[in-house]
Amino acid sequence: VKIWTEPPYKTPIPEKYYHTANTTRRANAVIVMLARNSDIDGAESSIVQFETTFNRKFGYPYVFLNDVPFTEEFKRRMQGVVSSSAQFGLIPESHWQQPSWINEEKASRARDKMGARHVPFGTSVSYRNMCRFYSGFFFRHPLLLPYRYYWRLEPDVEFFCDVEFDPFLFMKGENKKYGFTISLPDDRTTIRTLRRNVREFVDKNPDLISPDNAVPMLLDTRKNGMKEYNRCHFWSNFEIGDFDLWRSEPYMKFFEFLDSRGGFYYERWGDAPVHTFGAALFARKDQIHFFNEIGYQHGAIAHCPEGPAFTRGKCRCSQAASIDRKPLSCLSRYDALFEGDVLV
Ligand code: GDP
Ligand code: MN
Repeated sequence: VKIWTEPPYKTPIPEKYYHTANTTRRANAVIVMLARNSDIDGAESSIVQFETTFNRKFGYPYVFLNDVPFTEEFKRRMQGVVSSSAQFGLIPESHWQQPSWINEEKASRARDKMGARHVPFGTSVSYRNMCRFYSGFFFRHPLLLPYRYYWRLEPDVEFFCDVEFDPFLFMKGENKKYGFTISLPDDRTTIRTLRRNVREFVDKNPDLISPDNAVPMLLDTRKNGMKEYNRCHFWSNFEIGDFDLWRSEPYMKFFEFLDSRGGFYYERWGDAPVHTFGAALFARKDQIHFFNEIGYQHGAIAHCPEGPAFTRGKCRCSQAASIDRKPLSCLSRYDALFEGDVLV
């Protein structure tokens, strides 16, 4: 049993990772953005903020991915705002398109049903392709194969604080596998049978599951003692991760099992709940890191750092409006993972 002097979620980034901005020491890491050509303005806006707050000091390279070729204009605009290098990749059709073995009639019925219930992206096939791509394929893209660590970026996101430490060297040095800033419950209608399928996989492959894992944060105990899936998921529009987690045999088997069930199309399984189960099943809980220091916003939801990190990062955000302070956040369940282990 590992005894913590402080729970990992409250442990600030060690000083040694703050000194790396002024050195040439870098991790084998890449910034990844999947985008459509029409995302051009939002992509540029995210990168400008990302560069200002972090990357102009570190110079990590970018890989942009798309299911159709990027336009010359898209490339020119991105080249104009990155401080480092950028590569532009095309996703192979076999990593993107709805597979031929999916029963299109059944899939189309599912889309109609979700459309009628106004589920976000309920009728979209391309959104489902995107979720399946991020669940099982992006880490296998040829342009990403040379790298071990990644930071996933999306168009139209905001960064609130100056990041003066190297998160990749931190991941490497502290043996972390997955980093997040926001965690929330997912929409029930998009993942009706996901937990059932995960449980079947676990029952069939008990030897693949990590000891001391984070699965308990995904299960609430009901009054009658039954465990209930709370649909908490790390919001995957922000991820700092170790590709080896996804490239590992246990995760690959897990993805292939889920994929074979067709839920990416017969329901609308997101890459966020799938990655969350992946990280929770195949990493130890202390290998999943909450990046309190990184102030971040996607859509209407923001994470604004708590504690000394706010001042140190010169953060420009409202702590009161931060999701961490709202009951909706799943952060308390993540915190609770470490409670019994704390040595005071
Ligand atoms: P949300 O974050 O769940 O609301 O979904 P988004 O619309 O932001 O999509 C998530 C990510 O996938 C973003 O980086 C989008 O640019 C990208 N994306 C979504 N659909 C497509 C698509 O059809 N083609 C490409 N190339 N990128 C897509
Ligand atoms: Mn988004």
